[in-house]
Amino acid sequence: MDAEAASARELPSLDRLLNAAAVAPLIERHGRSRVLATLRDELDRLRARALAGELAREELDADAIARVVDKQLTEAAQPRLRALFNLTGTVLHTNLGRALLPDAAVRAIARAAAAPVNLEFDLDTGGRGDRDDLVEALICELSGAEAATVVNNNAAAVLLLLNTLANRREVVVSRGELVEIGGAFRIPDVMRGAGAKLVEVGTTNRTHARDYGEAIGARTALLMKVHASNYAISGFTASVDTAELAQIAHARDLPLAVDLGSGSLVDFATFGLPREPVVRDVLAAGADLVAFSGDKLLGGPQAGILAGRADLIAKLKKNPLKRALRAGKLTLAALEAVLGLYRAPEFLASRLPTLRLLNRPVVEIEEQAQRLLSIVQPALAERYDVAVAAMCSQIGSGALPVEQLASCGLSIRARKGRGSLDRLDAALRRLPRPVLGRIADKTLWLDLRCLESADEAEFAAQLNLLSA
Ligand SMILES: *Cc1c(COP(=O)(O)O)cnc(C)c1O
Repeated sequence: MDAEAASARELPSLDRLLNAAAVAPLIERHGRSRVLATLRDELDRLRARALAGELAREELDADAIARVVDKQLTEAAQPRLRALFNLTGTVLHTNLGRALLPDAAVRAIARAAAAPVNLEFDLDTGGRGDRDDLVEALICELSGAEAATVVNNNAAAVLLLLNTLANRREVVVSRGELVEIGGAFRIPDVMRGAGAKLVEVGTTNRTHARDYGEAIGARTALLMKVHASNYAISGFTASVDTAELAQIAHARDLPLAVDLGSGSLVDFATFGLPREPVVRDVLAAGADLVAFSGDKLLGGPQAGILAGRADLIAKLKKNPLKRALRAGKLTLAALEAVLGLYRAPEFLASRLPTLRLLNRPVVEIEEQAQRLLSIVQPALAERYDVAVAAMCSQIGSGALPVEQLASCGLSIRARKGRGSLDRLDAALRRLPRPVLGRIADKTLWLDLRCLESADEAEFAAQLNLLSA
């Protein structure tokens, strides 16, 4: 045994440690029971090392043990859900929580979280209310719908509409629209889960009006159109548009439902962005029911919105599944605030983060890239080459998959034998507020579109902690 090594008998007792001056602030912060359990584990570890003859004398010190335990407690108390910097270039990134909420929505959530609210209470009559009443009038005003209801997400919206209107009956869908959205949402599987029987018509690339007409029979409950969110079929193609499909459905006394995926309440083209279907237009074209997400292009909280004919919405609300799929008060608080912004469209591009980010001028992003170049390059020293580079952002979440937005950012390449992109990528993810970029073509791309100027200082300040 090493002459300098400490023996297990020399370890301080648990009691002495609990009363040590250095431990008092830990008990203050984390509570006695957490500190006690962590100290006990640490003493066990030290004892094992002492028995192995590996324990240094200075590790016996109560202050030293308190420091180690402090670090463990602080790390364990870190929330698992962390704020990060999304420099992937995908604005609505499903894995990163999609839309960022406007301040008004964040305040509404905080208020609703901390105080009792009239979630299902009618303040006028003093009687029971319906939680949908909080946002239904706004959705109707903004979309032209007769009625609306809100559930947990758009997948739930589609499930609810199929289960309510087509349980044990048939739903006719074009083969070109049998989409799989990320995270195992596949139209055929949702159909089965909802108890509906899928009747596929047409082919992958071409579906005609007569295909729908021939598929309709006594067991048909519904025609359905699904927005091809994350792919595009090009070349020799044909599909039936909403207006024509609505005519076919209505001629046979059937409703037409449209799963818009993202959907939008305003015409994105007026903001210079690629065009997406607008909910109001789809309803005006004859759709009886539309379903769309709250946290895609709408720029709100995770939610699924169903809007359309009043009699159909009333049926959806009566389905017991609605109770299981309904949105909570925090969601409804945020949604009301976001929808409120749509009533003043002239402020939308500045107040709604999703639109603000999608709309950022490239010159502004490029200026930011120039500013950050002089901070990022020194932080990476001689191991990497950093340059300002043009790149393309994506809207994400299945909206307009083939459309890309010109953007700018930093491209980082490893110098031969010195740096490693994987190491740098990992080091960026270990920062206090992790930074996520994208590796392609032996380059790490940091797209600055989603780094708003309010966050720039925080991003830059932590770079001195990088060791890669
Ligand atoms: C995204 C999407 C869904 C699922 O919406 P969530 O809000 O993620 O549940 C369903 N259908 C289509 C066409 C979509 O694009």
